[in-house]
Amino acid sequence: MPIVVQKYGGTSVADAERIRAVAARAVATHNSGNDVVVVVSAMGKSTDELITLANEVTPNSHPREMDMLLTAGERISMALLAMAIQDHGIGSMSLTGSQAGILTTVEHGHAEIIGIRGDRVREGLGEDKIVIVAGFQGFSPETRDVTTLGRGGSDATAVALAATLQADVCEIYTDVDGVFTADPRLVPNATKLDEISFEEMLEMAAAGAGVLMARSVEFGRRYNIPIHVRSSFHGEVGTWVKEETMEEAIIRGVAHDVSEAKVTVHGVPDSPGLAAQLFEPLAEAGLSVDMIVQNVSREGVTDISFTVPRTDIDAAEQAAKVTAEAIGADGVDVDHNIAKVSLVGAGMKDELGIAGKMFRILAEHGVNIEMISTSPIRISCVVRGDDVSAAVQGLHDGFSLGTEQES
Ligand code: ADP
Ligand code: ASP
Ligand code: MG
Repeated sequence: MPIVVQKYGGTSVADAERIRAVAARAVATHNSGNDVVVVVSAMGKSTDELITLANEVTPNSHPREMDMLLTAGERISMALLAMAIQDHGIGSMSLTGSQAGILTTVEHGHAEIIGIRGDRVREGLGEDKIVIVAGFQGFSPETRDVTTLGRGGSDATAVALAATLQADVCEIYTDVDGVFTADPRLVPNATKLDEISFEEMLEMAAAGAGVLMARSVEFGRRYNIPIHVRSSFHGEVGTWVKEETMEEAIIRGVAHDVSEAKVTVHGVPDSPGLAAQLFEPLAEAGLSVDMIVQNVSREGVTDISFTVPRTDIDAAEQAAKVTAEAIGADGVDVDHNIAKVSLVGAGMKDELGIAGKMFRILAEHGVNIEMISTSPIRISCVVRGDDVSAAVQGLHDGFSLGTEQES
């Protein structure tokens, strides 16, 4: 029997009515001859609310207990959905991440899936049940503790489960109609894509297109699981994320990311080994550095800037200050008001002049570029945070990605 994994995000299970709608869809998929596994997120904004609550209780970080707290969110939606499905007269069983055998690394808050046992999921399917698995959570065999996978992690649960079960498709149900040429909440005339390659989707997601968690796309690519991103509010076809697309686009879309901040170390002596001295402690502290720019050296000193997730900015600033002092740099400052805008498209590889056109468009919109990084199919620029909307809309229009604007 074909196996379908369906994942429903927070908005899609936000209240009792939405949960009943999800149950009806899962039951219909089951009744049309599929084995169905459903992965759920926490209801609505409940993960954010739990984080706020924890911050109200204590300003200190308690990673293990934080994961115990946050995993409760998905536990609520999975149990309610199982009840709603059982009311249709169909067997259903909810499983936490650890019950489903989702094994992860030890890092609380950003653990990685290292394997999925999945026997209880298979048993449930063997009993003709719709099996529901809590997204975003797993279990570290090393510490025997519950872990979470990072924000948006239910997407990773779903695609990894689909790979383990050799599912035919992983459907990601969300609050937009699919993957668009830009975030439709920022760009009203963004176009829904019929399809996008794993490679391009990976770049879009890593560049901030939060519709899919980047790691879920990595699983899809590695195990060749087609991902169908679609709306949970109607039955229309969404966007297929897959290995090959019919048409190669020069530019597939524009992504933006406002979740990073910038650290600048001023007056770094320009001699071999100092960059290593600056970045090694950051890696040891588990901080992931995204973009790096080293300015031209003048009179034997240079400025080095880098970006990190805003949630890590205090730790990054501290680590940079310790190094700055040790190497005799002038000082460290932090800039919270930045944004990254990225242009993504597989056809960029064979096309000259894309970067020049991108920079020209940004200039015409009065947007200053502070940092640049590229991959073969992506160009990213760090700009002022206040300029993000003008930059994204300007690039989207400048590369003619949108539907006709209504006048
Ligand atoms: P869910 O709770 O279903 O996982 P998310 O909020 O994580 O939903 O992801 C869906 C959101 O992703 C959309 O509401 C949209 O604002 C945002 N998004 C960002 N970039 C894109 C894009 N290129 N296409 C579609 N949605 C995007
Ligand atoms: N509930 C988690 C979050 O809000 C995981 C998810 O929804 O994918 O990040
Ligand atoms: Mg999400």
